[in-house]
Amino acid sequence: MFDLKGKVAIVTGGNGGIGLGMARGLASAGARIVVAARNQEKSRAAVAELARLGPEAVTIAVDVADEASVGALVRATIDRWGRIDILVNNAGTNIRKPAQDLALEEWRRVIDTNLTSAFLCCRAVHPAMKAAGAGKIINIGSMMSIFGASFVPAYGASKGGIVQLTKSLACAWARDNIQVNAVLPGWIDTELTREARQQIPGLHDNVLRRTPAGRWGVIDDLAGIAVFLASSASDFITGAAMPVDGGYSIQG
Ligand code: NDP
Repeated sequence: MFDLKGKVAIVTGGNGGIGLGMARGLASAGARIVVAARNQEKSRAAVAELARLGPEAVTIAVDVADEASVGALVRATIDRWGRIDILVNNAGTNIRKPAQDLALEEWRRVIDTNLTSAFLCCRAVHPAMKAAGAGKIINIGSMMSIFGASFVPAYGASKGGIVQLTKSLACAWARDNIQVNAVLPGWIDTELTREARQQIPGLHDNVLRRTPAGRWGVIDDLAGIAVFLASSASDFITGAAMPVDGGYSIQG
């Protein structure tokens, strides 16, 4: 039920953090992985690790905010392996400022990287998935898909948008047998949140206090949900937004 042998997965931002944690899960379940990100040094290191866990992994450089670059990623994947079964839209960024200090260019950079990217990647893989008669898309939201915070106007808008985009695509493509779901990670220890810990006083202790599990997540906490949502085990689940957060979102 969780076997991904023969499947091909594109993981955007798969060269580190949550994307790498999900890619590890997918590779261990037998999928071939395309690590799709900008930093090729990081991507090569991730590919070397993933190739030890699973059948095969490659890196294809992409800027997910760029339509032509996303098109080239999808064409290169099909040229190499002839199929795309799984897409993980994980690439993301944040600029932490209150709205009154956020420049339009900064707003656009966050929305383009976190939200428009997911639209572009989903649209680009749809023809191959439809032709194959099946597909699995996993979009990465956040606790900011649910909650607000004063310093994340663009990030929060992008992550709220991810959930609604997920629902629209899930409705549109259900009859193509393409399931589209969102994962909402809690606070996970990555480069992104290490930067946040430096910028937001008290964040580390607040996360520990507020998370019922009493710890920060690690990237391997995301491996299981990736395998579940990429496999036939989740064939009747679509349009869902699933927290993976040690209980952060359910504690009042
Ligand atoms: P990291 O900073 O570790 O990873 C971000 C990844 O996105 C990198 O692999 C980066 O690769 C890639 N990326 C960024 N911009 C682009 C771009 N324009 N084109 C292609 N790839 C890009 O952060 P996380 O692992 O923490 O974050 C991953 C996702 O999880 C994000 O969507 C984030 O919002 C979300 N998230 C994280 C949480 C956490 O606690 N860590 C909580 C909730 C959600 P490169 O720089 O090489 O391009």
